[in-house]
Amino acid sequence: PSFFAAIPPAPADGILKLSVLSKADANPSKVDLGVGAYRTDDGQPWVLPVVQEAERRLASEPSANHEYLAVGGLPALTSGAQKLIFGADSPALAEGRVYTIQTISGTGANMVGAVFLKQFKPQRDAAIYISRPTWGNHRSLFQTAGHEVREYRYCNYESLDLDIDGMLADLRAAPPSQVVVLHACAHNPTGIDPTEAQWEAIADVMAERGHLPFFDCAYQGFATGDVDRDAFAIRLFAARGFELLVAESFAKNMGLYGERTGCLHVVVANAEQLPAVSSQLNRVSRATISTASAYGAKIAGTVLQDPALYREWLDNMQTMSARIKAMRAALRSRLEALHTPGDWSHVTSQIGMFSFTGLSTTQVAALRDQYHLYMTDDGRISVAGLNSHNVDYVARAIDAVVR
Ligand code: PLP
Repeated sequence: PSFFAAIPPAPADGILKLSVLSKADANPSKVDLGVGAYRTDDGQPWVLPVVQEAERRLASEPSANHEYLAVGGLPALTSGAQKLIFGADSPALAEGRVYTIQTISGTGANMVGAVFLKQFKPQRDAAIYISRPTWGNHRSLFQTAGHEVREYRYCNYESLDLDIDGMLADLRAAPPSQVVVLHACAHNPTGIDPTEAQWEAIADVMAERGHLPFFDCAYQGFATGDVDRDAFAIRLFAARGFELLVAESFAKNMGLYGERTGCLHVVVANAEQLPAVSSQLNRVSRATISTASAYGAKIAGTVLQDPALYREWLDNMQTMSARIKAMRAALRSRLEALHTPGDWSHVTSQIGMFSFTGLSTTQVAALRDQYHLYMTDDGRISVAGLNSHNVDYVARAIDAVVR
């Protein structure tokens, strides 16, 4: 008898399955629109020039070593990350009401927050509310940490825009003092973000119901090219006096995917609460990862602390977001030129890495089987996978399956 014999296989991860299928397809026309990583116009990964420069500097430091970081992480990273998220002039920072701990990228930040909240959530029976739809890992992550997970409406699947009434109604109908996961910008998978006025309305309901906001911020600066604009929602909630959590990832905006660089920020009401909260977060992190990864943190810390490198980074993010916006425009204009049935304006109104195309599962399968075009079953494409060499082909293939 085996201890392991009764274990059923875990459900397949859609994205990982897609990547296996795509890798196995040797057809030269193949286009991979599944991968959630930036690609150049030649379809290649991009090491940001500013990251290359930071790496050169790190390599030439005579005292460079591979020692452990402190449990809280690298101060150059955590202090720079705080200013990036909340703004250098943030009252919460000035008042000493923010603790930041380095994490294993955005996933680890979500997980440290999840484990911390399992023990110290606003109400013993509080659930975690996630948007429908959301990043494929949210449900599993919060459930793995032992939470009950519920959904609030988010996407209007007919019009492919925000179901703001449904969202507000669900947040209002939830019991008081729940934890609500909000995408700070560039909502994954839909690319649909609330407007500034809608964020105000969301904040009103959250305040009314006493919910705790847990922001997931995986695309700051990558979405619009403007780090301040992409932090609008977080800064609005902070300015309105909310206590909140922010999971921050440097995977996309610094191209540090595999280096696993990120932070969790927690804003508390009174600075006196910070020693207890920070020590508990350190304890959770120590118990799960001991200390975070050093190399990516040194790169990001170098970029965040050096004014010239910081400016160069802003430029590098402009390059990425501008290419993605150009590809959105190119895809939309080609579909419109082909008179492809349907309204394609959502391709350019959506933001960030992803576009929710509205293609059905059947159309997605036809695109994969007949045109070697890979996207997730929900019709989400990674716009970063489009380039000047394949966008015509992609538009013609979509046109063919939609007719
Ligand atoms: N949260 C969201 C919404 C994401 O889209 C992602 C990445 O796709 C992450 C978190 C976590 O990414 P990472 O752990 O690579 O930083």
